[in-house]
Amino acid sequence: MECASAASKVDVVEIDPAWGSGGAAINIGSEARQSFQALGILDRYLAHTAGTAVPRPLLARILADAAIAAGADVRLGTTVKAFRQDPEGVDVEFSDARGARYDLLVGADGVHSKMREMVLRGAPRPAFSGQVHWCAVLPQPAGQQRTAAWREAGVDVELHPVSDNLMLLSVREMRPPLDPVAPRQVLARLRELLDGFPTRSVRDLAARLGNDSQPSRHALEHLDLPLPWHVGRALLIGDAVHGTTARFTPDACLGMDDAIILAQELGRAASVADALACYGERRWKASRKAAGRN
Ligand SMILES: Cc1cc2nc3c(=O)[nH]c(=O)nc-3n(C[C@H](O)[C@H](O)[C@H](O)COP(=O)(O)OP(=O)(O)OC[C@H]3O[C@@H](n4cnc5c(N)ncnc54)[C@H](O)[C@@H]3O)c2cc1C
Repeated sequence: MECASAASKVDVVEIDPAWGSGGAAINIGSEARQSFQALGILDRYLAHTAGTAVPRPLLARILADAAIAAGADVRLGTTVKAFRQDPEGVDVEFSDARGARYDLLVGADGVHSKMREMVLRGAPRPAFSGQVHWCAVLPQPAGQQRTAAWREAGVDVELHPVSDNLMLLSVREMRPPLDPVAPRQVLARLRELLDGFPTRSVRDLAARLGNDSQPSRHALEHLDLPLPWHVGRALLIGDAVHGTTARFTPDACLGMDDAIILAQELGRAASVADALACYGERRWKASRKAAGRN
């Protein structure tokens, strides 16, 4: 978005044909709101949500619309098949049989990044962080309009308002890895977990979960790649290099800020190589700070 509005020609390929259709909601902290402001989408975001959490598909839509409006050419259901680079540029071959030459190739494809395997061959893979995360949406309990948090015996429970009548439930368990839970059992297992919580108001949340709660369960993985995050003109950003940390609030904005800072450095550096060196230094410090906070 930032690069496209800076008069560069930007092509985006996204493997998901529906672009961000999955997931219940995401908690948006004050840092992420600052990133929205920097991207010029804060008003749009505030027009759509009354809470501190937002449905993931809605956030994906806002970001996608802004990227397209800024001039990015977006191709869904498409990925990078291969690339070859020389000192002057990168030739990229896409899964839709198209190809083009670029000044810079950026992999922002998340913690299970395929681009990471192509750019930084042999890089460490994400590892289980010792935390399991459960997430769902539920009708707002009476008298509970604001964010609330409880912590007991290795379980963190948070409620964040999504709208005037809907809350995001986020539960984090510190525990050894478990056997996978079948998707149809996630709701029942989440209810069991809440039922065992010492606080009555948390136990009461179990009864508010229903078939439209979009429950999910993830064994959280952690990744902290040392610099460099680029090879020549191919760069990795976001969770692809500093994957999900223990607390969620700053994480999404870390990825958005990566993109904002990258556009800034590309705009002012004399060469792509200089821009990537400065970018790496700035974002390494930011990712260290976020890791420390967690
Ligand atoms: C369970 C869970 C809950 C979380 N909750 C919160 C929260 O409440 N608040 C918060 O701030 N953060 C939260 N986070 C962290 C946050 O979601 C991530 O830090 C953030 O989404 C990272 O952004 P990203 O763009 O780097 O990667 P992603 O958001 O993972 O985006 C990667 C994109 O690349 C696409 N893609 C993947 N592979 C390919 C490919 N081969 N080719 C092309 N495209 C591809 C994907 O479809 C996706 O659109 C949570 C994380 C997890 C795991």
